[in-house]
Amino acid sequence: MAISDYIHTFGQYLFARHGERIHKIALDAGFTCPNRDGAKGIGGCTFCNNNSFNPNGSEPQTLEAQFDSGRRAIAKRTRAKKFIAYFQAYTNTYADVAELDALYRQALKQHDIVGLSVGTRPDCVSGEVLDLLAGYREEGLIVWLELGLQSAFDETLRRVNRGHGLKEYREVAAAARQRGISLCTHLILGLPGECGSHYHASLDTVLDIGVDGLKLHPLHVVKHTVLANQWRRGEYRPLQREEYILHACDLIERTPEHIMFHRVTGTAPKDILLAPEWCSQKWNVLNGIEHELARRGTRQGRLAQGPLIKTSDSHATFDGKTRIAVGGKSMAECPVLIQNPVEEEILYAT
Ligand code: SF4
Repeated sequence: MAISDYIHTFGQYLFARHGERIHKIALDAGFTCPNRDGAKGIGGCTFCNNNSFNPNGSEPQTLEAQFDSGRRAIAKRTRAKKFIAYFQAYTNTYADVAELDALYRQALKQHDIVGLSVGTRPDCVSGEVLDLLAGYREEGLIVWLELGLQSAFDETLRRVNRGHGLKEYREVAAAARQRGISLCTHLILGLPGECGSHYHASLDTVLDIGVDGLKLHPLHVVKHTVLANQWRRGEYRPLQREEYILHACDLIERTPEHIMFHRVTGTAPKDILLAPEWCSQKWNVLNGIEHELARRGTRQGRLAQGPLIKTSDSHATFDGKTRIAVGGKSMAECPVLIQNPVEEEILYAT
């Protein structure tokens, strides 16, 4: 069995739809972020280190050079001949629409690029940008908008200095899907003050608004961030690997089968990763998720539309208990931190 026997993956979807493997090539097009330059905020999200996107800290290469190295790296693992240009680093809609069009078309003119995936913040996507993306779709190209929501709780978003709330996400998500643009939403597990109940509520909110794809990530503590200082002072405790696996599996079970998972974990470069150490081992986490889904005898969608459940309520801590609300509804207080992960969970997850 493979993880794709339990999860509807984006790769599977592309293969079924296009009859061949299609991979993403991640790009840094030299954007910045309005949450860093003062337009929306200063300092950025508390967990964000510029170098997470570009570990060498140097100016990004030309798009052509990035495509070449992306193709070479992917060729070592697969025989994929077609690719999606994934504008990943920073806020990839943070420019004038004409500039964006020129940039995106520069990528699309590559002979083997069959579409675009554009990662951005919910408060930085105008109607004109959505019209631009919808136009590419009408040309027959694959087009995805990737929105970093991270949490549906405004209090959490404020706590990590995100600079936007759920409202902006709700508006852009609806407007994108009205235009037929496929939407992939990013959620982080382990944000300060959150626990399993929050992850479930965030997922339920995203599903309720409407979404086509999801990315799940554990929160990384990386160097030169506010979060790193909070972690050093003992104010933040990252999720342990086994906790992450349990929470991710809970969310996968609650997600309807037709929604594609673009990712169920994420990694950070070793040279800037402070904690948790397991975040540097993507395959170890993926194997753990696969084993846990097999152990439960479950798969994606088995608990879709079920009642709110709290199966894995150990959580990242921040300033003790929190009481926060989503969509105007009050949520229960986080349960008390579980000091030691349940042994059984470690045994079956490894
Ligand atoms: S929105 Fe993205 S790029 Fe901007 S500060 Fe937050 S994590 Fe960093």
